Amino acid sequence: MKFIDPFPTKCECCNEKNLYPVKDLLAYEAHCKSCGSRLIDGPLGMHKGKRLIAIDLWPVCLLLDACEEFDLDIDRISDEEFDNMYLVKDFIKNIEKMGFTGEPGMILELAAMKELNKLIVSSNFEQYSLKELALLANPEVKPGY
Ligand SMILES: [Zn+2]
Repeated sequence: MKFIDPFPTKCECCNEKNLYPVKDLLAYEAHCKSCGSRLIDGPLGMHKGKRLIAIDLWPVCLLLDACEEFDLDIDRISDEEFDNMYLVKDFIKNIEKMGFTGEPGMILELAAMKELNKLIVSSNFEQYSLKELALLANPEVKPGY
């Protein structure tokens, strides 16, 4: 996600709105130009927004990873088939349509999945919902993180 840089942010202490470099905001290193207190709420909201978008995009990332890794043809599935993909099982059905002939376990080696391998039970990972995996891949944001 791209923010306008510098990004307008309101100070939660004095309510003064000013422009701050995105890099400083996201690192929680921006200090209010009026009262000098560290800006927390604004940057936290930015991180939360980034997280929600990352969750939405996660299935797309996984599919694109699979396309690249297994040399698949994404045009072989319809938008509807993409939208109706809820479980890893559905994902596997789709990539098989796209030309995937490998073992389901190979999916666990994809970049988008690698981080999750230690968080899921890999023997029945086909039953996981993609939404659930997207949430695991993008943990809740905490201030200062
Ligand atoms: Zn202030």
